Amino acid sequence: GRAAALRARMEERLLGARFRYLNQQLYTGSSRDAARLFRDDPAAFHLYHRGFERQVRRWPERPVQRIVRYLRRRPASLVVADFGCGDCTLAASVKNQVHCFDLVPLSPRVTVCDMAKVPLAAEAVDVAVFCLALMGTNLQEILGEANRVLKLGGTLLVAEVASRFEDTRAFLRAMTQLGFKSVSKDLSSSYFYVLEFTKTGPARPGPAPGLRLRPCLYKRR
Ligand code: SAH
Repeated sequence: GRAAALRARMEERLLGARFRYLNQQLYTGSSRDAARLFRDDPAAFHLYHRGFERQVRRWPERPVQRIVRYLRRRPASLVVADFGCGDCTLAASVKNQVHCFDLVPLSPRVTVCDMAKVPLAAEAVDVAVFCLALMGTNLQEILGEANRVLKLGGTLLVAEVASRFEDTRAFLRAMTQLGFKSVSKDLSSSYFYVLEFTKTGPARPGPAPGLRLRPCLYKRR
């Protein structure tokens, strides 16, 4: 009856509020803080993922599908690392060998770790992917890790929410300093950008001030 409907609506609201709070924590702390948060409270992780799913379902296209299409156009022999793989949609959709990294295993394919320190040897992969996963404030360290595991000439793919880019040119300039040359930008979706880079060499040390993304905070609905 009406009481049950009201309770369901209240629960929905509460879940929404907890999701937005967790999401904010992920975007305003370091990747280590995120690892600690989910290690201490795995239930929070599952709640976060339910909220994430609900958000991206509203979009006309899931960014991971762009990554899937990109990989299908290239040789299946390319070895891939998926940083912040979520439910491993990418690995499940391509023939490539995909190393899946996330904080909690939503799938048995996942290697649990902080993306700032993945258990791969240097220059082990051809393609590194961050699909809606550049969340921590230590972006330079995270992208430095991607640089480390990528072969020279390898590809870095970044799909991120469009509104997170406050100064795309400054961001791309900072990426150069991290050893990544921009080779293509797909800005066609109003929801997200897909940026493709090539690794030109190791990351140069020193600050990369343009390497900033706004947190992606969701509105209450
Ligand atoms: N790439 C997937 C999931 C995106 S959601 C997709 O496109 O569907 C972002 C993912 O990054 C979440 O699964 C979250 O747990 C993960 N993540 C956030 N911080 C992380 C960290 N420090 N190390 C590893 N994974 C992290």
